[in-house]
Amino acid sequence: MDCKALKTIKGGNYMSDKTLKCKDCEAEFVFTEGEQAFYLEKGFENEPQRCPDCRRARKQQRRDSDNRGFRR
Ligand SMILES: [Zn+2]
Repeated sequence: MDCKALKTIKGGNYMSDKTLKCKDCEAEFVFTEGEQAFYLEKGFENEPQRCPDCRRARKQQRRDSDNRGFRR
């Protein structure tokens, strides 16, 4: 029940910048109001797990290996 109460308090004021920790490099990054609104709009339930840098790097990496795999 404690959990629910906490959620209600947070839910009433969820539109504020949040500091999250990156899963990959453990850097702290800000999950901004705008991004939260974007996530909400898209129906994403999870907060981002990685900082923008790591997200970009991962995307790039996947694209690189895709290309390589495709050319062979
Ligand atoms: Zn990171």
